[in-house]
Amino acid sequence: MKSRLQSGKSRIFVLLTVFVAVLILVGVLMHVKLRALLRGNIERQVAAQVKGVAQVAESELETELKKLETVSGLFESGKVSMSTLFTMLQEENPSSVFGILELDGETVQGEAMDVSGFSGVREAFRGNRGVSYQEGTGLLFSVPIYHNGNVKYVLYELMEEDVLPEMVTLSCFHGEGKILLATREEEIIIPYESWGEEDLRFLRSNAATDAFASISEKMIIATEGAAYCKEYGKQYLFVANVGDYDFVVVGSVDEETAAEGIFVIIKLVFWVFGLLLLLLAIGMAFVFGAEEKAKESEELRRAKEIADSANRAKSDFLANMSHEIRTPINTVMGMNEMIIRECKEESIKEYACNIQNASKTLLTLINDILDLSKIEAGKMEIIKERYFLSSVLNGVVNMVQVRANQKKLNFIVEVDETIPDELYGDEIRLRQVMVNLLNNAVKYTRTGSVWLKIEKEDVREKDIVLRITVKDTGIGIREADIGKLFHGFERLDQEKNRNVEGTGLGLAITSKIVDLMQGELKVESVYKEGSTFTVLLPQKIIRPDGIGDFEEKYHAYIQSLQSYRESFRAPEAEILVVDDNDMNLFVFENLLKKTQVKITKCTGGEACLDLVCEKKFDIIFLDHMMPGMDGIETMKQMREMEEYASKGAPVIALTANAIVGVRDMYIAEGFDDYLSKPIVGDELEEMLQRYIPKGKLLSEPVESAEETISETLPSGEEKQEETQWIDRELGLRYSGESEEMYREFMKMYCEMMPEKKERLEQCFREEDWENYTIAVHALKSTSLSIGGKILSEKALALEKAGKAQEFSFIKENHQDAMECYEKTVQEGRERIL
Ligand code: ADP
Repeated sequence: MKSRLQSGKSRIFVLLTVFVAVLILVGVLMHVKLRALLRGNIERQVAAQVKGVAQVAESELETELKKLETVSGLFESGKVSMSTLFTMLQEENPSSVFGILELDGETVQGEAMDVSGFSGVREAFRGNRGVSYQEGTGLLFSVPIYHNGNVKYVLYELMEEDVLPEMVTLSCFHGEGKILLATREEEIIIPYESWGEEDLRFLRSNAATDAFASISEKMIIATEGAAYCKEYGKQYLFVANVGDYDFVVVGSVDEETAAEGIFVIIKLVFWVFGLLLLLLAIGMAFVFGAEEKAKESEELRRAKEIADSANRAKSDFLANMSHEIRTPINTVMGMNEMIIRECKEESIKEYACNIQNASKTLLTLINDILDLSKIEAGKMEIIKERYFLSSVLNGVVNMVQVRANQKKLNFIVEVDETIPDELYGDEIRLRQVMVNLLNNAVKYTRTGSVWLKIEKEDVREKDIVLRITVKDTGIGIREADIGKLFHGFERLDQEKNRNVEGTGLGLAITSKIVDLMQGELKVESVYKEGSTFTVLLPQKIIRPDGIGDFEEKYHAYIQSLQSYRESFRAPEAEILVVDDNDMNLFVFENLLKKTQVKITKCTGGEACLDLVCEKKFDIIFLDHMMPGMDGIETMKQMREMEEYASKGAPVIALTANAIVGVRDMYIAEGFDDYLSKPIVGDELEEMLQRYIPKGKLLSEPVESAEETISETLPSGEEKQEETQWIDRELGLRYSGESEEMYREFMKMYCEMMPEKKERLEQCFREEDWENYTIAVHALKSTSLSIGGKILSEKALALEKAGKAQEFSFIKENHQDAMECYEKTVQEGRERIL
């Protein structure tokens, strides 16, 4: 492609060069032709001017002759005597020499002079008037004087050479041109002052001779002519006959003067032409360029089409793969959950837990690969919705807490109470970013703590920038490796991390999601000491009310989780589930066994349509990909039916297709909701709770959340006696429902008690309230993770007092809490015996 573009460019260059060269050639030819044309014109113009000059010269000679004739006429008629005539002439023109000759050539009047050499004298004796020239003497005007019809005398006037320029004044081109009067035999009669020696010599040069030869040719048919002579400083030479006399006027004028500014116009025209040429060249370059670009973009478009279709094929492949892989995992996970729920044998339950963990990892891996390919294909969308930050944090903290507990790490959560709770943004992606960073922090930390801090970086009316900090006391990252952190499939420090599960995709996805959300991700790390990942994330504010005490909210959430699990039953609810895969139907049914809902199963669209006509279902779960009529088609046909028993029942799409935007797609197609496969028991139950008519939901009375999260410590002996210090169910939940793991936790909790308690007592004695608060914070979460709800609540109250610097409260309640600690551990020991 590149070489094709290059050859395209060199073709444009050659084409342009040829084009400009042709234009220049045309310009030069035009210039030559125009100049030749102009010179011809100027020659004619010069000749016309000179003709005028020759006429002036002729009229001057004529005037002089006429004067002589008039005077001689007076004498002939006897009106004046010869001497009077002579005196009259001399008085009138004193610089000329006058004389009257007899037939024999003798001077009868005037100074005796030899004028026999003048042809004009001879002509006058023959009765003809005339003007003749003799070099060295001057110009002689002669007229015959008649007596009785015969020539008797000749009257002449001689203008001597030195006075000639004054007597016959000629000029041309307003004095700018040079002119002289000459005989036709090329004798110069009057060389006017403007002629220098050099000029006169030039007139005899070969170049001038050539020019004069061309003028002579023109004068065969005309009385005047002009020719351009480059050698003489771009001058025009010209010649014109002076009437019938034997004289010519000869001269020269430079081109500028002769052209009278025409050349300025020509220069102007050429400038304009040059400019036009340039413009044209630029225009052509643009046109060629545009054409090439059009070709290139056509090629690029085609290449893009091919790439797009390849990409579409890749996306389709991924979508199908995700469907194909998720479906069997769905079955595996579902069946496995049944084993965990129903099997009484601990060792088998443990195997099942391992299967569950491996399946979850596999699912995460598939999701990560899908996410990355979605991002790379530009298909990852940021779907903004209204959400509650506290609810996102509840989910995230709950999940990470379990993992942190498993690794015996402190997990400390600090949330700025004033951060608005109700925000607008992509909740799912926000959760993904936090979970990825926190999972890494837990994964890459062997001992110590993991912190999650939520603060506000910047708040402006409806906008907030959240600062999410995830800090750990883990293995840290070498400075040299920090740059590689966000490369996909890159795992650092392989030696140390060999036993840590991971693909090297998490951070690449996280950083890309943060980019898509117009946020910023920063890392600081000290090798072998720990790392801090900070995310700055702009979100919109829906309501400015602060999130409040997150600890409190979190506890309420944990309580609600418990009560939810215990309370939900709906024996009257009728559910229809449609899936072509029997295994999926089996898993679906078993997942809901405890809820006692009535489940009708069917394996195809047609059967589904029959069933909804016959029976009134409360919810219809419809698989998307089915042979024959698929889920969307089935749903559409159902909606088109006028009357059917299940009319109005919500239809929920079931799909293993994890491609982005799928949720919107199902809603747009007309489904009420969407549930992704593999189906997670909790999600399915939550969905049922949402859509089963309220009247059919049975809930057993449980403690209200408010009561449970009461900030005051449970007080009085009577309560302690009644209470079991440890809530086993809660502890099991935090141990991934694994009895084995729960026992391990409990063992560790009990073993660590003396050390932890001593630390607390020491801080209390020394009134080191800062460290007391940290220690009591750890006690709060570790106690909760083994189900020590009462102790956890006491620790929470003490921690709050520490933070609020209400030390008297600590002093009053410390002892009580320590006793509770001992009782909890005592009960714990009894349970694991
Ligand atoms: P994974 O954890 O699946 O290997 P990630 O993309 O999440 O992939 O992380 C890439 C690499 O960055 C990890 O393999 C690990 O070497 C390093 N890393 C990420 N988070 C941390 C952390 N909190 N502490 C130390 N190293 C980390």
